[in-house]
Amino acid sequence: MRGRELRGELDAFLGEHEHDLVEFRRDLHRHPELAFAEYRTTQRIADRLTAAGLIPSVLPRGTGLICDVGSGDGPTVALRADIDALGLQDEKDVSYRSTVPGSCHACGHDVHTTILLGTSLFLAQQAAAGLLPGRVRLIFQPAEELPGGALEVMAHGGITGVDRIFGLHCDPRLDVGHVGLKPGPITSACDKLVVRVSGPGGHTARPHLTADLVFALAKVLTELPAALSRRVDPRSSLSLVWGKVEAGSAANAIPDDGVAEGTVRCLDENAWHAAPDLIKALLDSVAGAYGIEARMEYVRGVPPVVNDEMSVEMLAEAAQRALGPGSVAPTQQSLGGEDFAWYLESVPGAFARLGTRTPGGETYDIHQGTFDVDESAIGMGVRLMAATALTALWESRPVTVTDPITSLA
Ligand SMILES: [Zn+2]
Ligand SMILES: [Zn+2]
Repeated sequence: MRGRELRGELDAFLGEHEHDLVEFRRDLHRHPELAFAEYRTTQRIADRLTAAGLIPSVLPRGTGLICDVGSGDGPTVALRADIDALGLQDEKDVSYRSTVPGSCHACGHDVHTTILLGTSLFLAQQAAAGLLPGRVRLIFQPAEELPGGALEVMAHGGITGVDRIFGLHCDPRLDVGHVGLKPGPITSACDKLVVRVSGPGGHTARPHLTADLVFALAKVLTELPAALSRRVDPRSSLSLVWGKVEAGSAANAIPDDGVAEGTVRCLDENAWHAAPDLIKALLDSVAGAYGIEARMEYVRGVPPVVNDEMSVEMLAEAAQRALGPGSVAPTQQSLGGEDFAWYLESVPGAFARLGTRTPGGETYDIHQGTFDVDESAIGMGVRLMAATALTALWESRPVTVTDPITSLA
């Protein structure tokens, strides 16, 4: 399909459906559901897909669903939206304010869900008209915030047979109508580290006859972060920062145990994979020098989202085609985490930032009770996702002289 034709078809589709999509988002916003409790949300999505003639498949836990549009021998491109809300009080004074105390869509997942629903309905029309050159797998993923929903989707075959995957996230620092893109890493890893130390304990008068546990723990606290910074490439920004430490109960008694907890953040995927073994080796060496026992509990969060270069080019091409020239803006790697990263460990793809700020309007932040979006971002997101799916499907096919890709505007 030519770019101009696609734009016209999206205009016509949104002219008919945009108002309804905004209402759908407001309904989700009024009824937020936390990770793995998105039963109502899942049902609402399933009802709309079924009404459009599609066959959604709800995940075994009853939250989140997967649905294919189109069939045949062509490639399969997946589009993913996360559907869960946050345990935060809604502080906005709007008609669609959350009706659930202590819970609201402060990360914009209601917007992501609505965009994917709109995209689904558009692609279903395309498929019915014989214009879909392959299959689009729609993934309405539960529990991004936990995180863990991506692993749940993958455990149930959600990306089996998928050639490429795309997702997006609201960006309240970018004006609506713009898309933030970046090849390579775009979010960061964040893990939790717990270190427990133990020794025989004793009187502070005789540290040489026991193991001076508090002193040794202090060495662990200072030497681990310092040694890490000398053992990995500084560009990976692997950083260990302690947030909690506990040991002892009296000034003149050497305790027999202690604990320190902290976070490990990392911008680089290779360094993230290497981090636990490296930290364990450093810990053993410091603890051994002072005669204490040290045990480490390393709780994995998510890896960084690492965007595939060709997939970013497809997003850029789609944005220019569906949102117009000048719609693409460079964006930076954030220190936040996003479980879309799990998909990209298995399948190439890319994650985009969708502008949601009203030009000249207030700049909100995600994970705040005041967070809201310019709702025209919903239509923009539908344009972007639909055009991206079609672009990726066309470009995944072998190029021939008569292939319509050659006539893309
Ligand atoms: Zn979030
Ligand atoms: Zn989010």
